[in-house]
Amino acid sequence: MSKKHNPLRFNVGYIIHETPGYTKDISFEFPFYELGDDLTVKDFKGMVTFSRTQKGILLHAELSAETATLCIRCLDATITTTDSDFTELYAFDRRSETESGLIVPEDGYIDITELSREYLLLDAPTTPLCKPDCAGLCPVCGENRNHVQCDCKTESIDPRLTKLQDLLDDE
Ligand SMILES: [Zn+2]
Ligand SMILES: [Zn+2]
Repeated sequence: MSKKHNPLRFNVGYIIHETPGYTKDISFEFPFYELGDDLTVKDFKGMVTFSRTQKGILLHAELSAETATLCIRCLDATITTTDSDFTELYAFDRRSETESGLIVPEDGYIDITELSREYLLLDAPTTPLCKPDCAGLCPVCGENRNHVQCDCKTESIDPRLTKLQDLLDDE
């Protein structure tokens, strides 16, 4: 285990001793954050709420992060924003655990790094675009049509217009 300070590891030990209904909000913001080998985010903002319940500590998180990705149409590097919110129960004991199997750690610290990584990857846009009207790559010459105006004929012509097109071509 790394001894490095982990800002996504929160001390909730004292919440265990509070009465059910007690809540604690924590917000954070990082210009740059490495959530794992496969996920480095920018402009990472979050608001987490820890609530003391009968069965454990309920975590609710609302996250927002920017990730570098490739536009699915033109393959240019682009930045997309992912918003994620999730709720998980850290049970006091195995009898109260949910499907996630999360238990309040003995040391009283809850690390939300892994959950944040999983949810942000899950909620990331599946069809990222560099801009809503990205023109994509030309299927003929492969040029990025956002940057290059090629002369390839790729438009599918409405069959009703084909005759007109033939007439024009004849001229
Ligand atoms: Zn694009
Ligand atoms: Zn082309």
